Amino acid sequence: MATPKFASAQTSFRAELKKRINEYFQETGKAATGNIALYTKAIVLLSAFILLYIHLVFFTPQTVFAIAECVLLGFVVAGIGFNIMHDGAHGSFSKHAWLNNLAAFSLNLLGGSHFMWNMKHNVIHHAYTNIDGVDDDIDIKPWMRMSTTQPKYKLHRYQHIYFWGLYALLYILWIFVLDYQKYFKRRIGDMPLKKMSTADHLIFWGFKILNLAMFIALPIYTLGFTSWLIGFLVFGVVAGLVISIVFQLAHTVEHTHFPMPDVATGRLEDEWAVHQLKTTANFAPRNKVINWFVGGLNFQVEHHLFPNISHIHYPAINKIIKQACEEFSVTYIEFPKMRHAIASHVSFLKQMGRAS
Ligand SMILES: [Zn+2]
Repeated sequence: MATPKFASAQTSFRAELKKRINEYFQETGKAATGNIALYTKAIVLLSAFILLYIHLVFFTPQTVFAIAECVLLGFVVAGIGFNIMHDGAHGSFSKHAWLNNLAAFSLNLLGGSHFMWNMKHNVIHHAYTNIDGVDDDIDIKPWMRMSTTQPKYKLHRYQHIYFWGLYALLYILWIFVLDYQKYFKRRIGDMPLKKMSTADHLIFWGFKILNLAMFIALPIYTLGFTSWLIGFLVFGVVAGLVISIVFQLAHTVEHTHFPMPDVATGRLEDEWAVHQLKTTANFAPRNKVINWFVGGLNFQVEHHLFPNISHIHYPAINKIIKQACEEFSVTYIEFPKMRHAIASHVSFLKQMGRAS
């Protein structure tokens, strides 16, 4: 597919949003990057990761506590991804580029690849949200059907039931299968991968080996195979479920759109900002625990419009964007509670499994 092109509007909604958000930062004198609240959160999450890892691997607690710690480790790893890696990769964690790079690099330590993430998430997903054939986030073929433009198989009738199992496997598949697929195929979905430098190759392999040593070899050596396997599966399943649920609630719920470009011209109907609002949803904007933990991924509308602004500012700019949407008659999709968004995701999957 040719790269889709967004429509250009006479009075750009995007320009107006930018103007209002710039005014907010000028008036408050705040920097758009992370602040002390974010750095405190980063320290809490990283310390929790180190302490849990050391306790589990070197001072293995009794089974019940060990399992509980593996569950917690799954949440902590997802939390590092949401709050540190994701902001760092968008360059919004800090005003210092080296700190952003370091934050983005945390993904390599956790088994992923910051190179693949940058291409999959920052370049493809953010630019071409919910466009089938381009956005890799909705490409779970043939296991799931995420848009009516994708082929429908009999098994999709049950996808609103078995998706839990697939989501549980996401983290394990990501670090052991999907990154390597992208690496060797040299593409993400239909998009060719950016050329990798020698340093990119060395970082990819170096961190993959370090991750295998940290998460497989060393714990098998200290705990034995069976204890490691149980612990690793509990940790991996929790991380996978948490990451996929939080990311899926952003774009694949009822009311979000899946626009397709014109076959002949490659043009899309809407300008970029309107496209983002049609394809993206928020959830639980007033839940303080969720706000702290998911790194602004419950304010995906704000994130997709302003990925270079740290998530720590999203609750504040949420009001400005809602106001602008009202004035420009652009629909703003938000679920008041997380359970509403999950129910909507299940209904969405059910519809996609049956719709022609
Ligand atoms: Zn993002």
